[in-house]
Amino acid sequence: MRSLSGRTVDLLVIGGGIIGAGIARDAALRGLAVALVEQDDFASGTTSRPTRLIHGGLRYLELFDFALVRSDMREREILLRIAPHLVFPLPFLLPLYRPSLWYQAKLRIGMQLYDALSLDKTLPKRKWLGRDETLAAEPALDPDGLTGAWRFYDAQVPLVERLVIENVVDAAHHGALVLNHARATSYLREGDRVTGAVVRDRIGDADVEVRARLTVNATGPWLDRTIAPLRRDAKPLLRLTKGIHLVTPRATKQAHVLFAKRDGRLFFVLPWLDATIVGTTDTDYDGDPADAAATEEDVRYLQEEARRAFPNAPFDQIYFTWAGVRALVREEGVSEGEVSRKHALRDHERRDGIAGVLSVVGGKITAYRAIAEEVADLAARKLAPEPKTPEAHASSTAVAPLPGADGSRAREIAVLAAGDQSLAVPLCPHHQGVAAEMVHAVQREWARTIGDVLLRRTSLGLAACQGLDCVAAVADLIGPLLGWDAARRKIEIDAYCREIEPMRRFSVA
Ligand SMILES: Cc1cc2nc3c(=O)[nH]c(=O)nc-3n(C[C@H](O)[C@H](O)[C@H](O)COP(=O)(O)OP(=O)(O)OC[C@H]3O[C@@H](n4cnc5c(N)ncnc54)[C@H](O)[C@@H]3O)c2cc1C
Repeated sequence: MRSLSGRTVDLLVIGGGIIGAGIARDAALRGLAVALVEQDDFASGTTSRPTRLIHGGLRYLELFDFALVRSDMREREILLRIAPHLVFPLPFLLPLYRPSLWYQAKLRIGMQLYDALSLDKTLPKRKWLGRDETLAAEPALDPDGLTGAWRFYDAQVPLVERLVIENVVDAAHHGALVLNHARATSYLREGDRVTGAVVRDRIGDADVEVRARLTVNATGPWLDRTIAPLRRDAKPLLRLTKGIHLVTPRATKQAHVLFAKRDGRLFFVLPWLDATIVGTTDTDYDGDPADAAATEEDVRYLQEEARRAFPNAPFDQIYFTWAGVRALVREEGVSEGEVSRKHALRDHERRDGIAGVLSVVGGKITAYRAIAEEVADLAARKLAPEPKTPEAHASSTAVAPLPGADGSRAREIAVLAAGDQSLAVPLCPHHQGVAAEMVHAVQREWARTIGDVLLRRTSLGLAACQGLDCVAAVADLIGPLLGWDAARRKIEIDAYCREIEPMRRFSVA
């Protein structure tokens, strides 16, 4: 599996977030020879720190980004179809409190537009609920001044990490060479052409030269750092903003769109797994994306605003938080929330005089498949300007289901558990995930650390206890598969505790 050395591929993708994984899958399905490298674990970057919605974004209507909303709604339908095991319809309530006539009219138009931009959707249409109906649907809402609520539908991807892994699994199934814990440290160059990258393989403890006819930089919020050696102009391509979420005990029955009293910002309170997510914030950020973490001010802001809407809900009790860094196409002179969420493709041959390399700038999870298709279209044109038939390089990802959609992954785990009864039991007293899932994660899905297993292959690390009660048992289970002796198991347990420490700074039992 870790056999990239000395290979020449058509396409080298740097960055294993949702966008890099999506590109690798799209290109591999077209028959291109692909390599994907990720410096940490697949999905360990911004992709595992979002609100977890697959949505057009009601808010972007205010920015008149109709094309973006329309295209995201189309992608929402596609993802509901190709990943029905990971992406689910989610009804929202948008409650109104003594709204002015102007505000009511504005929202009604917004709701109509949101529906009109997705006329071909399978999700139910919006509906106005009166005060009593709203309180019956959501008894936790503050009743004081409540007029009623709009109910509308969007979609949720509770385990977005698995969306990434399944893209990687399918890419590998179609011949892609994939490597996590492998950082691209420098570009290989022949004059003004990039011909691949040197990759530091941390697990194999080796530097590997990966030669590629075309290289795609999909490093999300790390882009300005990773592309700097190739650009004459030092002006950043990105504006980075940080957003955090609180994970609390289940506080509401429904998903809610709310507007903060303090600054009028839109935020969400959402059911998620057995818990509730409250988020998000949006503040400019200029540090290393890997260091992003919630601050006391971030936490207080979300707690106060959520309490206003649900006065008796348990927002004092925080299981954990996560913080992510948005990579937005740089715009100056506007506030964080006003920066467009649309992406851009940068061909460095045209813009910086360096051939053989493209960069993806920005982009939402919702749009990942369409962005991947656009990148692979351009890559295919560059690599083979005249395909034998027009279909030779066509994308199939809008119709090809992801690997777990047919239940095959669940079957693989069931076979493991049937072959060894000790793998059929849960390791954690608070979580129903069985030991076979963890073995499967190591044997079939490139998990190399406890964090890879608990946070990005299974959902055990996303439970309230974050797997801390069974972390030693997990190390004992996967240790032999990864060649860990007793001392190494202790090192790996410590590494996991360090990995989740930023998430637990505000944990209140
Ligand atoms: C708070 C918040 C809420 C959000 N909510 C939503 C939402 O509800 N819905 C939605 O659609 N979008 C949402 N987004 C946006 C979405 O999360 C991101 O746009 C998306 O995850 C970006 O994916 P990516 O692959 O570009 O970046 P990332 O996931 O960050 O992936 C980039 C990867 O590149 C790797 N990398 C960096 N340097 C190197 C190197 N030298 N070598 C190898 N690998 C490298 C990193 O480790 C990282 O894994 C949200 C974002 C934030 C911050």
